[in-house]
Parts: sequence; C-alpha cells; structure tokens
Amino acid sequence: MASASRYGEMNRLFNRCGQSGVLLPKVSLGMWHNFGAEDPYERSRAITHYAFDHGITHFDLANNYGPPAGSAEETMGRLMEQDFAPYRDELFISTKAGYLMWDGPYGEWGSRKYLTASLDQSLRRMKLDYVDLFYSHRYDPDTPIEETLQTLVDFVRQGKALYVGISNWPLEPLKAATRYLHERGVPLLIYQGRLNMIDRKPMDEGILAFCRQEGIGFIAYSPLAQGLLTDRYLDGIPSDSRMAKEHFLKSERRTPELLRMLHDLQQEGQAHGRTIAQEALAWILAQEGVTSVLVGVSSVEQLKNNLAVI
Ligand code: NDP
Repeated sequence: MASASRYGEMNRLFNRCGQSGVLLPKVSLGMWHNFGAEDPYERSRAITHYAFDHGITHFDLANNYGPPAGSAEETMGRLMEQDFAPYRDELFISTKAGYLMWDGPYGEWGSRKYLTASLDQSLRRMKLDYVDLFYSHRYDPDTPIEETLQTLVDFVRQGKALYVGISNWPLEPLKAATRYLHERGVPLLIYQGRLNMIDRKPMDEGILAFCRQEGIGFIAYSPLAQGLLTDRYLDGIPSDSRMAKEHFLKSERRTPELLRMLHDLQQEGQAHGRTIAQEALAWILAQEGVTSVLVGVSSVEQLKNNLAVI
C-alpha cells in the first residue's frame, strides 16, 4: 500500500515537461546501476517504494541496464507484479534502445529491426503492455534517421509507447528529428542528456537552449557525475562505491581539483543548509528548460538526501 500523502504539494514536486501535457517529478529515479540481478532485490524494492511514496512517479530504464543487461527491467517486472500493478496509471516508465544488447547485426544502433525487437523484449521483461516513454538511446550515423524516427512514430501508433524521446543525439540530427516527429503528429517529448556541474555539454552545445525554444522537455542524467558530486569520495574510495568497481567510474577521476571543488561546494552548502549532492542537484534544476534530474542511488538514505532538494 503506497503512502496516502505521496503527492503533497504538486507544484513543489513536479515540472511540466516542455509544452506537453505531462508533469514529471523534479527528481526522477534511474535504474542504470543498483537494480540488476547482482544487486539485492529487497534493497531495490525499498528504494522504489520510498521513491513512489514521496511522489517520484518516473522510473527510467533501458534495455541494457543491469548487470547483466536486461536484468534491471526484470527487476522492474518483478516489482510491477508484486507491488506496483495497482498503481500502473500513476507511474511514468521509460525505456530505451541503442546500445549493444545481443550478438549479431541486429543487436544495437538504430534500425527498425533492432528497435522493434528490443521494445518487445523490454515490455516482456517489465511485464507491461506499454511504456510511457521510449527513447532512441544514441544517434546512429549509419542508419537513415527517417528509419529510426518512423519506428518511434509507429511504436506510438501501435500503442507500445505513449511518448517518444531522444538521448545523446547531437544538435543537428536532434533538430531534424524534432521536425520529422512534429510533422507526423508525434512531437518529441523530451531529450535525455548528461548534465551536471562538471559536464555541461548540453548547455555548451546549445541542446538545452534548443529544447527550451521548441517546448521539448530536458532530463539531466548522471546529475551527480555518478557520485563524484557528493560527499562519497571526500575521504577516500569506499569499498562499496561505484568508483571501487573501476568500471564506469575510474579512480583517476578523484583529482585534487575535484576535491577542491567538493570542499567549496561543501562550504556553500553549509550556507544554504544543503549537502554537496543537494547543491549539485539544485544547480541543475535552476537552469532554465530543465524538467527533471535523473538520479541513481544505492540506498534509501541517498534518495532521501537527494529528494530534500525539492
Ligand atoms: P548520479 O549522477 O545520480 O550517480 C548515482 C550515484 O551517486 C549513486 O549510485 C551513488 O553512488 C551516488 N549517490 C547518489 N546520491 C548520493 C548521495 N545523496 N550521497 C552520496 N552519494 C550519492 O546518476 P547515475 O550516473 O547513476 O545516472 C542516473 C540515471 O541516469 C541512470 O540510472 C539512468 O537512468 C540515466 N542514465 C542515462 C544515460 C543515457 O545514456 N541516457 C547514461 C547514464 C545514466 P554509489 O553507488 O557509489 O553509492
């Protein structure tokens, strides 16, 4: 049973996604890490329950999240069956395809063949009839964009996705995609890009400004730079941290420059009564055109800390 007070003040919790009819929580939950088959299921369950109980309606997935690839969607499927099925209409669930998912020529990039098989697999794993949002996860320079985009349009026509999004595409193809989708009555809902205090590429390259002008939402992934912009690495590299795995986050990122930045953020945060993570999230949410920050967390405590920013 979800908390009866989960929505509190809607204006505080939600932002309108561009010029669409959709409201998204200012803080959304991402399942790239910490929700795979190798992670404790009860922890994943506790995190999603805490999120939903506090008005976090948007869970973000992709075909390849795990490890192993696909297992985060399986976790979502188990959660749907056990807990969330009665709340399906209160949830906004996204998935993506673009990166390597299976062997052979049809297991990645942007062909109709790959995207269609991938979305069908995702729906089966998540035990869903449809996703709220389907993304092209990356730009494919070798597939005509019309093929990729028409596949997205068709997903909406087939009822497999309610909205479409684009992630990690450069600006010029993004502009072409916006036109193509608009002309077919399936407007681009949202762009998902990496934006945080260290990596400001979508701002530097004009992507955020373009989305704002066109009424497209923008959701910032890795808003804490995978944990760099928190107190996690202030005093070393904890053994249970993402950096300790030396895979997606290498220890060479813990530089004297980063530590100086963290100490400055810590001091600024003290003035506002905020943690480093809250400072980092507040900075993104203050950028005009940002709809939501898409956090990853490995504990309920971290999520609680991050939610205090709103
Ligand atoms: P973050 O930048 O939020 O990093 C998450 C990590 O930061 C956590 O796993 C945890 O590290 C640490 N952390 C989080 N909150 C706190 C806190 N309050 N105090 C201390 N440490 C904290 O995001 P992710 O890189 O995980 O990405 C978030 C989501 O964005 C993904 O799940 C996915 O949905 C999406 N994404 C999309 C991509 C795309 O190509 N479209 C690419 C990457 C992400 P630890 O695990 O060490 O405890």
